[in-house]
Amino acid sequence: MKQFPDDLSRAFGRADKEFVYQVQCTVKKLSEEKRKERTMNKKIPFGVVLFLAILLLAMGTAIALTIHNWKHIETAMDIAVENGAYWEWSLNAKIRLIEAMAEDGLAVSEGDMAALKGDDLTEDEKQELADRILTEQYGEEHFIYYYTIAVAEWGEPQTWTLEQRYWFFKTEREKGLYLDNSWIDLLPEETDLTRDEVVRIAREAVRSAYGMTDEEIESYAPNVSFFITDVCDTPRWMVEFYTQGEDGQIHGSPYSVLLTRDGEVTEDWENLGVLTPAQARLRQERQKETAVDVFTMRGQMRLQDQNTVFWNPEGGKHYHFLADCPMVNADKLPLKELPVWDAQFGLLTPCPCCVSLQDFWSLKDKLRYDVGSWKYPGPDWISEEEAVEKARAALEEEGCSPEGLYPAVYSTGALEEEDRYIVYFDALLTDPDGFTGVDPIYYAIVDACSGEVVSCGESESNG
Ligand SMILES: [Zn+2]
Repeated sequence: MKQFPDDLSRAFGRADKEFVYQVQCTVKKLSEEKRKERTMNKKIPFGVVLFLAILLLAMGTAIALTIHNWKHIETAMDIAVENGAYWEWSLNAKIRLIEAMAEDGLAVSEGDMAALKGDDLTEDEKQELADRILTEQYGEEHFIYYYTIAVAEWGEPQTWTLEQRYWFFKTEREKGLYLDNSWIDLLPEETDLTRDEVVRIAREAVRSAYGMTDEEIESYAPNVSFFITDVCDTPRWMVEFYTQGEDGQIHGSPYSVLLTRDGEVTEDWENLGVLTPAQARLRQERQKETAVDVFTMRGQMRLQDQNTVFWNPEGGKHYHFLADCPMVNADKLPLKELPVWDAQFGLLTPCPCCVSLQDFWSLKDKLRYDVGSWKYPGPDWISEEEAVEKARAALEEEGCSPEGLYPAVYSTGALEEEDRYIVYFDALLTDPDGFTGVDPIYYAIVDACSGEVVSCGESESNG
């Protein structure tokens, strides 16, 4: 059997896996260190443990104490329930809010307060005074409601503490002001990582993934959430890195890291960042130099052109480009179509196999999204499916068993004379954490017009 040169398989994008591996190693190491530290921390006297337990039970009060200025925000929520929008607010509602503001320590002059509650002013004058106090504090009337009040006191939600997020969205829900349960903020427990630890792990993941300097990564502020979703009730951490302009405006989140409760970036390394334009350019440059594939760019390009992806409605967490993705258990196939505008789509992460790696994309898609420079099929070429069948039959005749392996179809190089399909049969590589890559076991070269198998056998890069 003829051995096929290794060069072609290099075009598969192996560099991605190094990138992933690097991220995972770093994060694993970090979280192991964290775990050790936490075990140490647990060796504390029983009395202290008991005290902490009581403290946890009293969490409701404890939270209230750690959050600044929440009473008048809650009052504004109550007013929203009872009165609706600002222009519907009664004078009493406005006075209630102003009183709560004063209780929270916001500057409301004693004279104004006395005037609002006394008998010297007419109703209209009191209305005018109340409006003046509120608009001076919170801006134009049509902007005033509990959310803008919270933002005025605490800053943009990205800057909120875990306690603020938890309290605000929980209270909002309890009062019936917010009915969406697709994302629920939680409070970490005493045994959980601290916010600082999570930020450190996430920073390290982004830093090492993008080769940033400490200074670069420190220039982004972290928005940390600890949450469950309606499709995943295991708490997870999300750290989004953002920048804030001098005007307080939040400028996007170019990098985000999703972590398990224990601080591992395992399930979503693909989510390590939507590239900033500068980063994307840099990657493109590197790609040109090294001719390796970086999945995110092409995966995203392909995604932009798609109206539908595929998924497993019974708890699947990835979206797929292939209805018969090799990574999915056979009994879940074929996968169901999912329009990309469906809210569900936003909760799924790219499949590390059929989205992140392009090996299993059709030749047409490889060409369309510029995955290597292959020859375009001519009008007299047999179909890809036929080429795979011819390759499979020829290998079986040679005593090879491509059964259970997954075909990846290429053509000869764009500049080569021959019209040939090259079909690999790949094994999936997995470890306890899931899919890690593919290993081409067999190859077959098929004449694209006659369908004759020119050569086939074991792939050299095997092992
Ligand atoms: Zn897939």
